[in-house]
Amino acid sequence: MKVVIIGGVATGPKVAARLRRLSPEADITVIDKGSIVSYGSCGLPLFLGNLVPKIEDLRKTSAGLVRDTQYFDGTKGIKVLTQTEALAIDRAKKKVKVRSLEKGEVWELDYDYLVLATGTKEVKPPIPGLEAQNVFTVRHLDAAAQIRDLIREKKVKHATIIGAGLIGIEVADALNSPRLKVMLCESQPRVLAKLLDPDIALLVEDKMLKRGVDLRLNCRVQKLEKDEEGKVCGVVINDEKIATDLVIVAVGGQPEVALAREAGLTIGETGAIQVNQRMQTDDPFIYAGGDCVEQINTVTGHKTFVPLASTANKQGRVIADNIAGIPSEFPAISATTAFQAFDLNVGRTGLGEAQAKELGFEVLTSISTGLDAAHFYPVHGAVTLKLIAEKATGRLLGAQVCGIGEAIKRLDVLATVLKFKGTIKDIQGLDLSYAPPFATAIDVLIHAANTWENKQKGVVETITPFELMEMLNRKENITLVDVREPEETKANPVQGANTVVIPLGELRKRYEEIPQDSHVITVCELGIRGYDAACFLQSKFPRVGFLEGGMSTWGALGYKLGK
Ligand SMILES: Cc1cc2nc3c(=O)[nH]c(=O)nc-3n(C[C@H](O)[C@H](O)[C@H](O)COP(=O)(O)OP(=O)(O)OC[C@H]3O[C@@H](n4cnc5c(N)ncnc54)[C@H](O)[C@@H]3O)c2cc1C
Repeated sequence: MKVVIIGGVATGPKVAARLRRLSPEADITVIDKGSIVSYGSCGLPLFLGNLVPKIEDLRKTSAGLVRDTQYFDGTKGIKVLTQTEALAIDRAKKKVKVRSLEKGEVWELDYDYLVLATGTKEVKPPIPGLEAQNVFTVRHLDAAAQIRDLIREKKVKHATIIGAGLIGIEVADALNSPRLKVMLCESQPRVLAKLLDPDIALLVEDKMLKRGVDLRLNCRVQKLEKDEEGKVCGVVINDEKIATDLVIVAVGGQPEVALAREAGLTIGETGAIQVNQRMQTDDPFIYAGGDCVEQINTVTGHKTFVPLASTANKQGRVIADNIAGIPSEFPAISATTAFQAFDLNVGRTGLGEAQAKELGFEVLTSISTGLDAAHFYPVHGAVTLKLIAEKATGRLLGAQVCGIGEAIKRLDVLATVLKFKGTIKDIQGLDLSYAPPFATAIDVLIHAANTWENKQKGVVETITPFELMEMLNRKENITLVDVREPEETKANPVQGANTVVIPLGELRKRYEEIPQDSHVITVCELGIRGYDAACFLQSKFPRVGFLEGGMSTWGALGYKLGK
């Protein structure tokens, strides 16, 4: 059996390796346009930030062997042709026409099964000057190595990143230092617009600003300017010229489907290759997987395009199984995505709030913050969770997390609940582990579900940070009651609103200091004391609510109000 695999980064090598285990006799050839195959592109920002010391580390197996052509040939018996481009597929003759990019030779490879693992192609925004030197994308090892060399040679004092999506932010974190000023330009009014709801994205934005990133939102990059040597030396944004030494374009990619399209295979509504659950295209002898194919969303059942290495690798295994004669299907995805930047662990799974509403769900959300470990354990951090669920039934539709604490453990539990069509009640009933280093006695995730249920049952009014901001903008008659301890208030005062400060322990004696005729909104650090305070004040005042997530979420909005 002859198997040709086009694309050698994540999906392709995964298909090849699994197939080799299942079919020792199969003749497997992987071809790639690039000179390096099978590397962890997800680790490129870590390399830029010096957390991965050498670029070769991204090419190694866990046993320390570099996955180069010799490794694939010698250890796996897989032929890998680098700098070899697939030009066309002849489906009738089951041949792929290929060309050596080094020597220019053109020849044909026969196949019994063909696998398309062509990934994405870079999107180049129409900005004049992108051809200048020191303008990069962060997709390939050589570009990352060049960027790090420039920084090490102290040739870069100012870097401009275009695009505040996941990769732009990871790279901003990697480069940002007292010696290197990072300017992050985003055309949207907020960061991470495709990934997170505004309230959670704002937490990341706030952290970046506090770390000194020059964040330019609603920013139109008009052109790049170059010096007499052809190196980029300036960027013009919103008619302002800013000197810069390095530009990184991180505006995303599009599925690479040219070969598939020309071969007459169906391209789906998302622009990626359409496959069935066995990862077959509409030619049963041609499989496709990874960043070039579309998937099905777990919650909606609709087609979606979410390019991720986790999906790519799992699809690679399914393809290999099917070629080897083991029936295998790839399920729907929840688009579960995680990243770490500016010490925050951030992620999402399922639908965002706006997306769920657009799809016609009647949605109730809650935001709550708690600790990832017992407060008396030496290492603990806050985690903010947003739950998005169907109001009437409590069916989980999506979730987003952010915090310096262990947020991703909770995200993965939520992704599991989502997968099994679970509800808020199911989360409340989860038998999660507890010991002080790992959780609080009621895990922050269960606390989040309890908060959602309280909100659904109307135990007490809750106000989201954005609702509070709108109330303040409308100049509503509000009294914010800060129930934290004096030192907490001093260290992190409520910005952008007038407050009455009464620590929770004194509230029962001093509540009469609060004006009777206003809408009382209690605030604390994480939301828990604010909730307690609101429950008490409900019996004393006509309208009382508490700020969801407390200062942990409101702090991010302070500067928006022009503090
Ligand atoms: C900086 C960065 C960070 C990331 N972080 C994460 C993360 O944390 N988590 C996560 O899940 N995902 C992450 N991703 C996404 C992840 O890297 C991709 O989902 C994954 O690489 C997809 O693998 P693939 O093999 O399908 O496609 P690709 O990695 O795009 O590889 C496709 C290969 O096919 C080759 N090719 C295309 N056409 C031809 C042709 N005609 N002939 C020959 N060769 C061809 C290309 O040259 C390329 O080498 C990140 C990506 C980047 C760039």
